[in-house]
Amino acid sequence: MEAATPGVDRVIVITGASRGIGARTASIAAQRGYRVCINYQSNRTKADEVVRSIEAAGGHAVAVQADVGDAAAVARMFETVDRELGTVTALVNNAGVNDIAQGRVDEVTADDLRRLFNTNVVSLFLCSREAIRRMSTKHGGRGGTIVNLSSTLAHTAAAGRFIAYGATKGAIEAFSYSLAQEVAAEGIRVNCCRPGPSDTDMIPPGRIAQIGAQLPMGRISTPDEVANAILWLLSDEASYVSGTILGVTGAR
Ligand code: NAP
Repeated sequence: MEAATPGVDRVIVITGASRGIGARTASIAAQRGYRVCINYQSNRTKADEVVRSIEAAGGHAVAVQADVGDAAAVARMFETVDRELGTVTALVNNAGVNDIAQGRVDEVTADDLRRLFNTNVVSLFLCSREAIRRMSTKHGGRGGTIVNLSSTLAHTAAAGRFIAYGATKGAIEAFSYSLAQEVAAEGIRVNCCRPGPSDTDMIPPGRIAQIGAQLPMGRISTPDEVANAILWLLSDEASYVSGTILGVTGAR
């Protein structure tokens, strides 16, 4: 449940919100009355652009640098949010990479696998535990919602190049089911959004039309189409939706 009064005191942390799906989720969340933490890893310029566009439209946002795979940095980010925005009521675990540990299993290095799983999977534990410590009624909180970003590559077409990335997304789905049950009686809903290919920096520009032509709708999704699904999962309209996966796959 989103326990805070609709439109009042809603504070959202979106990891990886400087670009792509995270940036669009941030802008739409601000339009719906959330105060927004724009997390980023290194692209301060892009994060500041998202903040400026939200503030130009009358919203409130702050950019906070933190590597989501670094426990101390994540703890500092949530402390900054406490101070500058208020207590978090929604978390979108969106930051993720697919350009590490590409290739067949007999080609990948252990170091690359550790880096990939740290960014894509360990980060969900680190960010979710900080959010739960603030949201859970067990800890005196008012409840909240969490959405995690999976991918169709958890289930399809990952062999050869994206097997490690696909495995991180499978882990995210398993994490989401169990976490939803763990905190269901503590006022927190947890869901997963599973996009197919979306038009962000993650897809090389030269591949967008080619990938789209292979999909049932003849195109890949826009980041807004994914962001709108995330915002619905976060909303009071989804008050009895928890532990589920919402595909944004265009019938794939
Ligand atoms: P994107 O455009 O490549 O943007 C990635 C974002 O993650 C950036 O804001 C980046 O920050 C941030 N980031 C990367 N590593 C980070 C770290 N260690 N700590 C903090 N932030 C970090 O990505 P996207 O395409 O929007 O993807 C968003 C999510 O959707 C990912 O989980 C991805 O796996 C998933 N997804 C994407 C697609 C797709 O086709 N695009 C399909 C299915 C699922 P900087 O700007 O500072 O580098």
